[in-house]
Order: sequence, then C-alpha cells, then structure tokens
Amino acid sequence: MASEEDCSGTAENGFMLPEVKFTKLFINGSFVDAVSGKTFETIDPRTGDVIAEIASGDKEDVDLAVAAARDAFDDGKWPRLPGYQRGRIMMKFADLIEQHVEELAVLECIDSGKPLLVSKLVDFPSVISMFRYYAGAADKIHGETLKLAQELQGYTLKEPIGVVGLIIPWNYPMLMFALKVAPALAAGCTMIVKPAEQTPLTALYCAHLAKQAGIPDGVLNVVTGFGRTVGAAISSHMDVDKVSFTGSTETGRVVMEAAARSNLKSVSLELGGKSPLLIFDDADIDMAVELARQAVFFNQGEICVAGSRVFVQEGIYDEFVKKIALSSKEWIVGDPFDPRVNQGPQVDKRQFDKILSYIDHGKREGATLLTGGKPCGEKGYYIEPTIFTDVKDDMLIAKDEIFGPVMSLMKFSTVEEAIQRANYTKYGLAAGIVTKDLNIANRVSRSIRAGIIWVNCYFAFDNDCPFGGYKMSGFGRDSGLHALEKYLKVKSVVTPIYGSPWL
Ligand code: ADP
Repeated sequence: MASEEDCSGTAENGFMLPEVKFTKLFINGSFVDAVSGKTFETIDPRTGDVIAEIASGDKEDVDLAVAAARDAFDDGKWPRLPGYQRGRIMMKFADLIEQHVEELAVLECIDSGKPLLVSKLVDFPSVISMFRYYAGAADKIHGETLKLAQELQGYTLKEPIGVVGLIIPWNYPMLMFALKVAPALAAGCTMIVKPAEQTPLTALYCAHLAKQAGIPDGVLNVVTGFGRTVGAAISSHMDVDKVSFTGSTETGRVVMEAAARSNLKSVSLELGGKSPLLIFDDADIDMAVELARQAVFFNQGEICVAGSRVFVQEGIYDEFVKKIALSSKEWIVGDPFDPRVNQGPQVDKRQFDKILSYIDHGKREGATLLTGGKPCGEKGYYIEPTIFTDVKDDMLIAKDEIFGPVMSLMKFSTVEEAIQRANYTKYGLAAGIVTKDLNIANRVSRSIRAGIIWVNCYFAFDNDCPFGGYKMSGFGRDSGLHALEKYLKVKSVVTPIYGSPWL
C-alpha cells in the first residue's frame, strides 16, 4: 500500500550518500569553472535539499567547448582512428562505467528520484550494454559500390557528421547520455553534451571515466547549465554540425528554429508522447493490468513513451477497473533507496506542481478519480499513482503529456474505434496492444501511427531496436543501427573507367 509510512520519503535505508566529486564543466579534457564563475543548485527531490553547486555554463563556455570539439574533429585522431580502435576505447569506457555502477546509481537516484534498484538493475545495465553495442558497430561502417551509367564507377563513404550537440532530458539522465553519446562516438564525431539542469551529476562523472578510458581530450565535452543559455547556444552555434535533442515538443521546436536560423545544422528530435495502450476483450486480464500499471507509473510516469491513455474493450472493462484500482494501491511510493519502493519522487517542484495541476484539471473537466490524486509524504515531491475513469478524448488529461503517474482510462467497443481513438493525438511515439488474436495485433500495429508498437509487452527496449517519433513526437531514430546513421554523412566518389567518354 502507498501508506503514509511508505510515502514518507525520508530514510536512506543505510546507504552512504557519495561525495559529489565532479561539479565543473568538462571542456577539452579538464574540469573547469564557468567563465562567469556562476553556479546553480542541483536538488534532491526526496527532500528539496541542495545536493551540490554545479558550474552554470553560458554561451562563452559553449564557444570554448565547440572550439575544443572542432579541433578534435578537424585535426584530432578520434575521427581518423580505425573503427576497431574506437571500439576498443568505448569497450573500456563501458567497463569503467560498470566498475563504478554502485556510485553512479546512487548519484542518479538522489539527482532524479528514481528507485535505486531500477537505476542499478535496469538503467545502468542498458547503458553499459549500449556502449558495447555501438563499440561493436564502430568498425562496421561502410558505404556502397555503385556501377553508374557512362562507364563511371562510384562508391559512397560514410563519414562522421562532425561536431554534434547532444541535449539530454532529466528523466533518464544516463540512458539518454548513452543513447546519444555511444553512436556519436562510434561514428567518429566529437561532441558537446548538455545534461538537463535537474540531473547533471552522472554525465559529469562519466566525462571523467571517458578520459580514463582513453577518449582524447576535446572529443567529449560536458557543459552543464540551463536550456535557455547552454542549450540555446548549442542549437544556434555556427560550428555545430548536428543537434540531437530529447525533451519536450515545445523545446524541440525552439531547437529546430535555432538550427534553421543559424547554419541549417542537421537536427533529430525525440519529443513528447501520449501513447495509447489498447486492451482487447480476449486479453489475459491480469497481465493487462500489470502492463497498464507499469506503462503509466514506471519511472514516476516520467517517460516519453508512457502508455498514459489506457483503452479497455467493453467486455472486460468493469473487471479491469476493479483490478487496476487494487493493483495501483499495491504500488509503493516512497524513498527511492527503499528496495520495496516502486515509485520515487517527481524530479522537481516544477514537475510536481505541473502534475498536480493536471490532476485538478481532470477533476474539473468531469473525469472520475478512481485512485490517488494527491501528493504524499511530508517533504519531497511524491505523488500517489492516480487513475481517472470517464475520461473523454478531448479532455486535457487525455491530450497533454503529463509526464507523471496519471492514467486516463477509457472504454471502447470495436477494433475500428480503438484504432481511430488511439490515433486521435498529435503525438506518435509508442503504442501497446494486449490481445491473443494475431489478426487484431497485426491490423492494429499497422494502423497506429507511432514509432514503436509493443504487442503483449510494454517498454520492451533493446539496443538493436530503433525507436523515435511519428507526428509531433519528432523524427530520427535512437537505438539500433539507424541511430548510427544519424551521426554519419554520405559522400559519393565517382570516377570514369576505361572506355568512358570522360577519359
Ligand atoms: P522540460 O520542460 O521537461 O524540462 P525540456 O524539453 O525543456 O523539458 O528540456 C530538455 C532539455 O532541453 C534539457 O537539457 C533542457 O535544459 C534543454 N533545453 C531547454 N530549453 C532549451 C532551449 N531553448 N534550447 C535548447 N535546449 C533547451
């Protein structure tokens, strides 16, 4: 039960909080203060207390980082190393992350609020294996040979795109770091990473490990600070060749505008979502309840692919409602250091307030609060897992990405209706289907406009499986070999052969 006690969000359950060792910008292989000398506070969402003062970068710092990355790209060895050598260094980087996982997972937990066990057993193993996956891909980058008309022959070269800006959100600080840094490194790019201001600790720590692993100075720079300063300076920089951004749709639009107004840099955007989970009458109902609970409440609901619109077919709707209400009461909210806890605090006060205001809005719009709906604990940013029934497709809680533990539960009758209502959104990141009927699974998967469809599972990610958006959820794919392509450019080389009119 999410009781008062479970929700208290206090004890550290015997864990020694680590000393925060890395708080400065990492530029050209060294930790340095911001040019302005300014710092900002990173906050522990369990308590609202300050964890550390972090260097607050600005345009001048981005200029320095871009200059270092430019030198490392234009004249340095990283892009010129055989892919195999880059891969070996990346393997070492992965090994070092693995060796420091205890400390990193605790830092991630106090900075973001996610349960320590999830960080240690889900996020970090994915981070480490992702670096190894792209390390293995680094020496398998090749173009095509072309047999052209007029006795010409050609080939394509795939070259690293150049200096890349990687702008990262706060919900999966390390996983998003790996999703972007690993393919960019494998491709031979140099980079400026901008972690979210809410969660800078693990990226800085990893910058130190990257250096230890042998990644040359200037290849991986980390500039901490705010979006309107550091993020804006990266996306409008004339010497940045590409920006890969994950975050809200509103900010994605700003990043794209800045890219368009500056040097027309290439942009990829992984943005918001309001993903549907469709549960059909023939579904195994207990499995469906568990999937729905995970799809909405996992990671405090702070997941772009959260299945926050749950559509249940009318034949099992009433039973589903009873079971999901019970099951959400067994979802434990509390201190993320407690191994029994499923859900920690929301990342910060702003997010906490935003979620509560959506819950208020849902009540005012006429949706019925089935469970939850309130903050919990005496301090920190904890919110009960919340379920609304009687939700209409046009209500704000069914349309907006809330990015919190709030489920909108809706009833449907036919397959056609399910498809039509699932697609009734400006987003298109993910969808889930729960059915034993292969025909329904196939038909619905092909009809939903979203970048990833999970059938009888949810959050089933794999390094080799691309994901990204349709519609206003963005474009470009993370994960898999598609992501490597984002950091490469194709160059064609053409030459006449014997007998050609060109000779
Ligand atoms: P949220 O509103 O949930 O914090 P954002 O999409 O604004 O999500 O943040 C995602 C990332 O984008 C963060 O690293 C943030 O600092 C950065 N960011 C915010 N504003 C801008 C901007 N104008 N330009 C570039 N990056 C930005």
